[in-house]
Amino acid sequence: QVRVRFAPSPTGPLHIGGVRTALFNYLFAKKNNGVFYVRIEDTDQNRFVPGAEDYIFESLKWLGIQPDETIGKNEKFGPYRQSDRKHLYKQYALDLVHNGFAYYAFDTAEDLDALRKETEAKGGVFIYNHTVRNGLKTSLNMPLEELEARLYNKDPYVIRFKMPVDEKLVLNDMIRGEVTFDTSLLDDKVLYKSDGMPTYHLANIVDDHLQETSHVIRGEEWLPSLPLHYLLYRSFGWNAPEFAHLPLILKPVGNGKLSKRDGDKLGFPVFPLDWKSETGEMAMGYREKGYFPEAVINFLALLGWNDGTDKEIFTLGELVQAFDLVRVNKSGAKFDPEKNKWFNHQILVHKENSELAMFLKPVLEQKQITATDETIEKVIGLVKDRADLITDLYDLVDFFFVAPEQYDEKAAKNWKDDTADLMQQVISVIENVENFDPKEIETTVKTWIQENELGMGKIMQPLRVSIVGAMKGPDLFEIISVLGKQETVKRINNCIT
Ligand code: GLU
Repeated sequence: QVRVRFAPSPTGPLHIGGVRTALFNYLFAKKNNGVFYVRIEDTDQNRFVPGAEDYIFESLKWLGIQPDETIGKNEKFGPYRQSDRKHLYKQYALDLVHNGFAYYAFDTAEDLDALRKETEAKGGVFIYNHTVRNGLKTSLNMPLEELEARLYNKDPYVIRFKMPVDEKLVLNDMIRGEVTFDTSLLDDKVLYKSDGMPTYHLANIVDDHLQETSHVIRGEEWLPSLPLHYLLYRSFGWNAPEFAHLPLILKPVGNGKLSKRDGDKLGFPVFPLDWKSETGEMAMGYREKGYFPEAVINFLALLGWNDGTDKEIFTLGELVQAFDLVRVNKSGAKFDPEKNKWFNHQILVHKENSELAMFLKPVLEQKQITATDETIEKVIGLVKDRADLITDLYDLVDFFFVAPEQYDEKAAKNWKDDTADLMQQVISVIENVENFDPKEIETTVKTWIQENELGMGKIMQPLRVSIVGAMKGPDLFEIISVLGKQETVKRINNCIT
């Protein structure tokens, strides 16, 4: 059975790159009738950030890609939080030691610092690997009595992986194909720390094994860890899962990985939801900026993947059907905030007006504007073609609810000596429209313009400015009809007096 996981570390808000990893795991699981589970990797106590775990689950919920198994849900392979599995890991680390694949290292941080300085003074780089490990305070080179005494005295130690000295590994990645690694270039990573916690590497492999992960789908930044992970499986005598490393998400301009700073600089979110840390650090999210989860899912799916056609708009269900890891690119995918807006626009215009109204209503309420549902839905229908984000809606409809107090300067320049008088006449024309629907208002006003040979622009422009305040908005007769006779006349009057 296909079992894949999203394994975030709760070190802050979930980056949009992490969301893409979650999405690709979700799509792969659903496509293959498998299980998508979420495991929280919180073994690094120094990097733990309160609130981050809730944020992760809330983000997945908003996006509609919820796990089949996780903390509090179908806990068949639980616990799903590594700190709750703490008791489990030590025996595995010790197994490796007893079988000669790992060793105790007693060097203190100060010892290692001194060594690093010494090596650097000689122009070298200190790497904890096979070239130095035999000269260090490890179980590889100390008499058994000393080791036992140290363990008995509870001397602080870490357990390190004993990287093979010189082995060429040819490993398979479902996206990249064969990837080769030379173990002589790798260091002896810590597997188990002096604080009694496993490191990411050990906990990740033990859990993927115990939780029967069939495929590991994760970001490219983990590719350098692949040889160690492969060797850990081999040392334990376990079958390794299949691996797929997703391409990097690149910044919109320049080169390199997309970072939070790119978003801050250019004004787009790199997180799904707004984030406020306990220390007051803030970041904006797609939800609060006015994006639909469907749009975020859609643009994330296309970051490094396509279905082989030009199709760009997919529902989640369509993505599940079309998804295939084989079609994921190796090369980095550029993040394009403008295109992301376009995706949102495509989703927004196809939404029912009543659904969009649910987002606009709280904004109107906050501004103490009262309007019937019918009116709200109607005005949304008139403007939604011009909206990219849900948060654009209010600015597109405000003049329906609030009469202009100022008039656009440029438009006011078209105001001629006889304009006020003409607007006075328009008032009477409008007052005489019986059935106040857009078509009838339009015919009446336009007939009057033609009969008096006044010229469309001469009337329509000042009329719009007096009602809307600027040369913007949808069809003017639609606006007039929504405002009603009384409000329309009041606004024209206000403008000319
Ligand atoms: N905890 C790791 C992270 O934060 C998981 C990496 C993996 O999927 O192996 O990304």
